[in-house]
Parts: sequence; C-alpha cells; structure tokens
Amino acid sequence: MKALVKTEVKDEFRIENRDIPNISADELLIKVEYCGICGSDLHAASHAKGYEFVPKPIILGHEFSGIVAKVGSEENKSLLNQRVIIMPGVFCDECEQCRNGRENICSNITGIGLRTDGGMAEYAKVKAQQVLLKPDELPSDIAALTEPLSVAIHAVGRIGDEMLGKKVLVQGCGIIGMFTAIAAKNRGADVTISGLQRDWEHRLSLAEKFDINTEIFENVDVRDNRFDYIYECSGSSIAAENAIKRLKKGGMMVVVALYEQKVELPMNVIVRSEINVLSSYGSTRKDFHSAIDVLTTNKEQMRKLFRIYSLNDGHAAFRDAKSQKVLKPILKP
Ligand SMILES: [Zn+2]
Ligand SMILES: [Zn+2]
Repeated sequence: MKALVKTEVKDEFRIENRDIPNISADELLIKVEYCGICGSDLHAASHAKGYEFVPKPIILGHEFSGIVAKVGSEENKSLLNQRVIIMPGVFCDECEQCRNGRENICSNITGIGLRTDGGMAEYAKVKAQQVLLKPDELPSDIAALTEPLSVAIHAVGRIGDEMLGKKVLVQGCGIIGMFTAIAAKNRGADVTISGLQRDWEHRLSLAEKFDINTEIFENVDVRDNRFDYIYECSGSSIAAENAIKRLKKGGMMVVVALYEQKVELPMNVIVRSEINVLSSYGSTRKDFHSAIDVLTTNKEQMRKLFRIYSLNDGHAAFRDAKSQKVLKPILKP
C-alpha cells in the first residue's frame, strides 16, 4: 500500500510502499477515504517541544474516515464494508475517569496516529471499539472533520451553564478555534473570534460565512472587558494573559490550547473578580456523536473550511498548513 511516511528528518516526508497491516482479533483494517492534517501533526513533523514521544519514522494521521475492509473476528462481521469514522483514542473503560464518562482523560489512554501508525496511508488498522458508523447523509470528506469538531464541542460543553445570548470570545482562529466558535454559536451565544492581522485572509475571514463576529488582535483594546466566557484556543501566552483582563467579573475562561511557553496569569485579578479558569482536553464518545450531528446538518458551510490533497501531495499539504494558507488540509489516499 501507498503511505505518506514522516521520516527521521525534521519536516521530511516520503511516499513509501508498505505492507498492508496485519490485524489481530480485536482489530479492523480500514481502507482510508480521507484523513485530516491536525495541528499536532504539524508539531510532530517539526519535532516540536512536547512531541518527543512520537516515534520516527511514522505514518501520521488521527482524523480519518474510511471503509472497513477486513475484520479480525466473526464477532465484528457486521462492520465489514461499512463506512466509518475513526475515534483516535483507545480508552481502558475501567479507570475512575472512564467510569465517570470522562474517557478523554482516561488514565491508560493510548491512540493511533502519533504513537503508532495512523491514517495517512491507503490502509490503517484500528481497534473495533474505535469506529463509529458514518451516516449516509454525511459525505466521507466532511466526516474527516469529526475529531477536531468533537474537541470543540467538548470545550463548549465544559461550561455547563446556559449559553443563549452570552458574550463569548474565542481566541485563535485555527480549526479548533473556528469549530469552538461555531459550536458556541450553535448553542445561541453571541460569538466573536479573534486572530492576528496575518490570519485574516485564509482563516479569520472564514468566520463571517458562519455569521460569527471577528476581531483583529492587534487592534483590540484589552480594557474592553465585556465577555462572559473566553475560549483560549490560540496557544499564545500573551493571549492567555489578556483573556483574564477581557472577562467580565464572574466570567469564565476555558483553556483549550497547549503552550510552548510559560504562561503567567494575573492571579489577583482572577481572585478579586471571581473568574473561573477551566480546561478542556480531547473529547468523549458523546462529543463524537454530537459532532456527527453538527456536520450532517451544516454540510455545505463545512466545505469552505478544508482543501483536499492527494497523498502524493502530502508534503505540500503540510507546507500549506504550516504557512497557514489553508485552514484544514485533508489527504485523500
Ligand atoms: Zn487532531
Ligand atoms: Zn480509562
């Protein structure tokens, strides 16, 4: 099979001819239809800090849809030839977090695409528990957006309160920021998304297609503290600090991004204004189901967010993602 392999060398990819993976009894062989490139794939490719655990060489890819081409045991026979969406995480279902419905922070979580070979190839193997049936009404290319959207839905769900009419700011206009803004808007919030001036052309301006307000970070007055909730999806330590200043008293910040630099939060402001700081990481099975529903009902708009590349053009897809020329590149093996 053809595979896009990230080599031992930083930012280097090679198309290789690999054997189709052998599967064991609890696994399925997936013929990959579409596989998204995630921010974490970019970090892994450039050997960024915090991604030392990624083996090299590796076939990246954890956001994919495909067809079940082979099953490891009789028990999964009904899945054969079904179109599915992959959940990249493998949860133990036994630890305290799993038993409380918080499998996204499972103590024994493993997964494909960053620790083991993933979906940027013609075939990939997954555990049977990692697939969800794709509804017929949802096209397979859009289905590859399920995982990043589920992460945003999880973040929005972290605020249990009513969102209707609340003023929400999403900082950062990468795909997670964009999806978080869309998910908050779907819950009736009055949403603004912010990005840098250089993000406008290829990323920030797309928010207008979803009737989401936009603001440019460089032009913002930080004393403008009118927000009930702020989602920090930018990964910028300055933006994280600013977020606290831009919340109303009693407001809430949800941290969704990961940071390469140390972040200093103004603790006295947090205390005196009773600001809550929450975090959000990954997503649960429930979030995946919600994401499938949101994608199915908003298919046409979703098409504006991604661009498809062949596997052979994988290197160019990574380059365009890195230079932020495209919000979400999706590979088609
Ligand atoms: Zn991802
Ligand atoms: Zn667990």
